[in-house]
Amino acid sequence: MSTEPVVAEAGRDFIRDIVQADLDAGRYKEIVTRFPPEPNGYLHIGHAKSIALNFGIAQEFGGHCNLRFDDTNPTKEEQEYIDSIQADVHWLGFDWGKNVFYASDYFERLYEWAEGLIRGSLAYVDDQSQEEIRATRGTLTEPGKNSPFRDRSVEENLDLFRRMRAGEFPNGARVLRAKIDMASGNINLRDPVLYRILHAHHPRTGNKWCIYPSYDYAHGQSDAIEGVTHSICTLEFEDHRPLYDWLIEKLPVPSRPRQYEFARLNLTYTLLSKRVLTQLVRDGHVAGWDDPRMPTMAGLKRRGVPPAAIREFVKRIGVAKANSVVDVGMLEFCIREELNRTAQRRMAVLRPLKVVIENYPEGQVEELEAVNHPDDPSAGTRKIAFGRELYIERDDFMENPPKKFFRLSPGTEVRLRYAYFIKCREAIKNAAGEVVEVRCTYDPATRGGNAPDGRKVKATMHWVPAAQSRVAEVRVYNQLFANPSPSAANFAADLNPESLEVLRDARVEPSIVEGSSNEPMQFERQGYFVRDRAFTPERPVFNRTIGLRDTFAKEVGKG
Ligand code: ATP
Ligand code: MG
Repeated sequence: MSTEPVVAEAGRDFIRDIVQADLDAGRYKEIVTRFPPEPNGYLHIGHAKSIALNFGIAQEFGGHCNLRFDDTNPTKEEQEYIDSIQADVHWLGFDWGKNVFYASDYFERLYEWAEGLIRGSLAYVDDQSQEEIRATRGTLTEPGKNSPFRDRSVEENLDLFRRMRAGEFPNGARVLRAKIDMASGNINLRDPVLYRILHAHHPRTGNKWCIYPSYDYAHGQSDAIEGVTHSICTLEFEDHRPLYDWLIEKLPVPSRPRQYEFARLNLTYTLLSKRVLTQLVRDGHVAGWDDPRMPTMAGLKRRGVPPAAIREFVKRIGVAKANSVVDVGMLEFCIREELNRTAQRRMAVLRPLKVVIENYPEGQVEELEAVNHPDDPSAGTRKIAFGRELYIERDDFMENPPKKFFRLSPGTEVRLRYAYFIKCREAIKNAAGEVVEVRCTYDPATRGGNAPDGRKVKATMHWVPAAQSRVAEVRVYNQLFANPSPSAANFAADLNPESLEVLRDARVEPSIVEGSSNEPMQFERQGYFVRDRAFTPERPVFNRTIGLRDTFAKEVGKG
């Protein structure tokens, strides 16, 4: 699997071309777009693509982008989601200013317009059940059947629709349908449902309404009310566009928005359906919407992914009209690039093995200098204590190494980063035969990491001082799914059983837990890490944002 990034032509795509052509033709005074989430879950990386597109176009062409909550289904929508969506759009770096709207603000107008459709014999109340409506809708090859209630009089329809609103009927007893064409080649035009009865409390309108507009009825009209010029949505709405246009044409709307469709983001090893994400949370497969394994913005944020990396990612993948699947390696590439540039370097040992430097004086401690960023001198330096007892990474020692193992083993010499050359004398084992300590000597002439006689070593290893380092918990995350194309229908079977490894006795240099910076850091030779929101100096907890290299794709590629 290739992780080579494909660079899209900077800032150009077919939607921007359309917008430019509309401006050139003088069709609009101002470009208005909108990002229209339904507040029934947290935003994910797919939404980031839509946000960057809608807010990006508004910015580039001097228009504005509305944040509009498509809150037409009160049974699934919650204030928590409204709040998280606002926080996440801001975190990603976009701002709607004063332009935050709710489809529910338009319920009264939408209702009046629906009465208008009834008066024009363009809508009717249908008493059929949901099942009957579905069964008579026809198929791609067969036309649908007219409802027996299709030819009700305007008066009867108005009376029934008003009584639906007044709460006289139970859920599902009746619907309002547009009267279009049951034989249309486009199933969306076969008398689509405009209103359904739902006795449910709405986060914003409370118990005022017991009928709610369908997505198709609410969406385009909300666009028109807001003066949206380009209503950009994903490809699955392409077949809905004739209905979108029909409603705009028949209703006395104040403007005429047009809908354009682009391909939604799909990522390998990832599911971006809100239904699945909700299930993952509800069934406890993850620790919540912001679990760092989740593809949600809240999860990516908690994992330490910088918003700039997400913006760069969506820029690189571009905007196209054909569906495709993007390699998650491309997202990881963007994260590494950004963090490599911005993250300060530190030393941490995730699985510690004790080293005793036999010829280093007991009780002596010296301070060595370490650079914070190899490419950015302005990031400065810091001091690290060095003494007789240290920790190194367990993996960096092998008692009986294979040929190509260049790190520490009995008789070999290696460099400890920022410190000295050390040479291994022997390994100490416990009763079970496990190595518990490594005895070494150091060469005092190699202070800073270079030998005056010019001799070389094949490895440079990170380490922390035993006495001064702090114990920390490090959570190492891997892909949530083990399958490159997980099944949305049966996602539990595709979960990666090794998506989280918790290391409870990692050792980190003190500067990692001191200070108040919550920026991600590079733990040298390990990857990028960030303080978890549960972090306290007394109980430091870190999340791994990402490893240094793309080992996952390779490992999986092999199997
Ligand atoms: P789901 O189908 O999983 O419930 P949704 O697409 O219905 O998600 P919305 O809240 O309606 O979720 O989405 C808000 C906007 O984000 C819509 O315009 C939608 O087209 C867009 N969007 C959602 N998922 C993606 C994606 N994977 N890639 C690009 N845009 C997306
Ligand atoms: Mg939706």
